[in-house]
Amino acid sequence: MEQLYIYGIEEGLDIAIMYYKQQFPRITDKHIEEIMKLEYWIPIVREQLKNLGTKFTYEYEIKNSEYVGYVDLMIHNQDGTVDVVDFKYSNNIEHYVNSKQIHLYKYYLEQLGFKVRNLGYLFIPKTSIRMKKDEDTYKFRKRLEETLKSQKLQLKKVEYDENKVKKFFEEIKRLEEDNTYEKNETKLCDWCDYKEYCQSNGKIDYMIEEE
Ligand code: SF4
Repeated sequence: MEQLYIYGIEEGLDIAIMYYKQQFPRITDKHIEEIMKLEYWIPIVREQLKNLGTKFTYEYEIKNSEYVGYVDLMIHNQDGTVDVVDFKYSNNIEHYVNSKQIHLYKYYLEQLGFKVRNLGYLFIPKTSIRMKKDEDTYKFRKRLEETLKSQKLQLKKVEYDENKVKKFFEEIKRLEEDNTYEKNETKLCDWCDYKEYCQSNGKIDYMIEEE
């Protein structure tokens, strides 16, 4: 969804909705409710960006032997500097504000010759209300509209912290030197290709025998 917001902000609402619909063989009520969220937020974010600048680069790729990242938005300032904004479709503001991500963007962008002036996150609030037992679709969508209207975009500026970059390199070094590979089960396991094997307690063995 976050990617879709970026797409909509860059390409426009109609294109984002068309793209979203193309991802599904049939559109259900739940898809329509997701579209309502896109229709609500994308114009608001586009308006917000008009206050931040006029020249933008979206999804700038940073790729080198140690790091790959996509900078959601760079705003090119008149003094030749750039401001870096990362979009988050999330209510977990504190987590992202404390993360290393945007500090690493500045570090690597400056290695590529950009002069980064400001860093920040633009939070698009997530709305996860569900239909109540005594609600019909009409009433639920009215409540969804009201909930969307009650939420606010938040632009959070972040001060660059060199220590976060240092910590990143320390972690990389530790990973490279590590020779024990303990399980680290988190909610991210749901996206792991090895989950079935890892969580089978030895019942599944994918080892390929040497010929
Ligand atoms: S399922 Fe994957 S991510 Fe989770 S602990 Fe096992 S190997 Fe690690």
